[in-house]
Amino acid sequence: MYQKPNKRLTGQTAIVTGANSGIGKAIATSIGRDGANVIINYITDPEAAEEVANDICDDKICGQAIPFKCDVTKEDEVQAMFKKAVDHFGTVDIVVPNAGIQKDYPLHEMPLDAWQQVIDVNLTGQFLCAREGIREFLRRGMRPEVSAALGKIITISSVHEKIPWAGHANYAASKGAIVMLMQTITQEYGPMKVRANSIAPGAIKTPINREAWETPEALNKLNELIPYNRIGEPSDIGSAAAWLASDESDYINGSTIFIDGGMTCYPGFTENG
Ligand code: NAD
Repeated sequence: MYQKPNKRLTGQTAIVTGANSGIGKAIATSIGRDGANVIINYITDPEAAEEVANDICDDKICGQAIPFKCDVTKEDEVQAMFKKAVDHFGTVDIVVPNAGIQKDYPLHEMPLDAWQQVIDVNLTGQFLCAREGIREFLRRGMRPEVSAALGKIITISSVHEKIPWAGHANYAASKGAIVMLMQTITQEYGPMKVRANSIAPGAIKTPINREAWETPEALNKLNELIPYNRIGEPSDIGSAAAWLASDESDYINGSTIFIDGGMTCYPGFTENG
């Protein structure tokens, strides 16, 4: 879905991780269309990252975009990505640590490395990016001509920061932890004008959950969990992220915005309980 740009983010630079696919791609595109420069982080499939960057750059009203390969679990690689952003664009104003994975097992069968990999990408990766972002915000100082905030961090959690998820304990634990990471950032750095918020997507049509929507039967079953009765599109998240990065949402700090068609309203209780 094409979103009308309004250039709310002109003069700012964003880093979006996992930006060559699904939700990250939509966030990077929306933020770029709103005028920001964007680092399109990827770990595999450089062609897809290049395509996202070209889409942003081709549109004359947008900011500039460059792909950057980095494993978000590696401290030195994350630092190199921030250095690239500062060298190329001057600073970083918006950090969206979106990269995430699932490694699903019943808890009693979950190998330690499946637990660890999910925590490493979904939690430690978001910590490393948030930390490097805050370091850069503090180094650079306020730029009132581009934003009322010193910097913005938009962590990507999930409805599973709230809804327990059998068979996905590692994933649910990583997303539950994001709430405390994000709110602690608000408490610690809000006084310095940093805004940290989370977006908690429900079921969004991306490669991560393909088996939940790729057949009509699976999609019907999924829709039973969604009062609004449709699966989410990546653009549903992208447009919200661009707004959350802009001064239009300046008084929102320490909040999780659920974008889930009502999934967290427990539709299973409509006729039961
Ligand atoms: P996706 O699989 O399309 O995208 C995940 C991205 O993360 C990919 O680009 C992947 O290459 C990247 N990635 C994985 N490991 C990485 C690493 N070590 N370093 C850098 N990048 C890495 O899935 P998606 O649905 O777009 O997921 C994006 C985020 O949204 C994730 O954090 C996910 O948990 C969250 N989320 C998705 C849904 C959904 O329904 N799709 C729901 C709730 C939350």
